[in-house]
Amino acid sequence: MLTRDAPVFLVLAALLGLAVGSFLNVLAWRLPRGLSLLGPGSFCPSCERRLTWWELVPVLSYLALRGRCRTCRARISPVYPAVEAGTAVLFAGAWARWGPGPQALGAAVLGSLLVAAAVVDARHRIIPDAVTLPGLGLGLLVSALNPEVGLLRALAGVLAGGGLLLGLAALTNGGMGGGDIKLAAMMGAFLGWSGVGVALLVGFMSGALVGGVMMLAGRKGRRDLMAFGPFLAAGGIAAAFWGQELVGWYLRVFFG
Ligand SMILES: [Zn+2]
Repeated sequence: MLTRDAPVFLVLAALLGLAVGSFLNVLAWRLPRGLSLLGPGSFCPSCERRLTWWELVPVLSYLALRGRCRTCRARISPVYPAVEAGTAVLFAGAWARWGPGPQALGAAVLGSLLVAAAVVDARHRIIPDAVTLPGLGLGLLVSALNPEVGLLRALAGVLAGGGLLLGLAALTNGGMGGGDIKLAAMMGAFLGWSGVGVALLVGFMSGALVGGVMMLAGRKGRRDLMAFGPFLAAGGIAAAFWGQELVGWYLRVFFG
């Protein structure tokens, strides 16, 4: 009998994650440039040669090519295999944690959307509506199917996540963008109001930590704006997988 913990399912989940990660790379490259997702096929951004299928195998192609284009030798960003490997870990992790069902589905879909948003924000300082708005709808749908969240808590999550960042945007006068607000609302749709609270807390703490370290190291001045999306994304993934544990830990640390 095959149980849900059988290694074959973990491998399949990881392979699906690799394929989705490969698509997220395409999404993150094309969305901010206004290019179609349907075609033409992928090409080297440096010499514009169309890539063959064996140059597009997730992670393995990058390793086989040693991180360079086969013809023009331009460096290929390590972000590509990192996105593919990260999504594979995300999918295998969701399967290992919950098995088949709305919770694993929610974590995998939310994680994928957050990876795409984080990559685009880090590169271009924007979070495309084409990720967050359909994501918000998907989140409400998945949460409605998930008895652990439910539609009401998901709607409250949208209001809590979006509202909190909207308030902060008004207070900080431009430190927070409209993309961040919509991203937080989307996370609320998947995580519910308590989950999105955990996500924002982790996002702010990690952002403050990294920003502080970079300022101390002289890499960034107080006035330089850091893309906040990657930190929000990290918080969202942490809350999806360890939300309950993080709340318990927080309560123990601060309230004994
Ligand atoms: Zn090339």
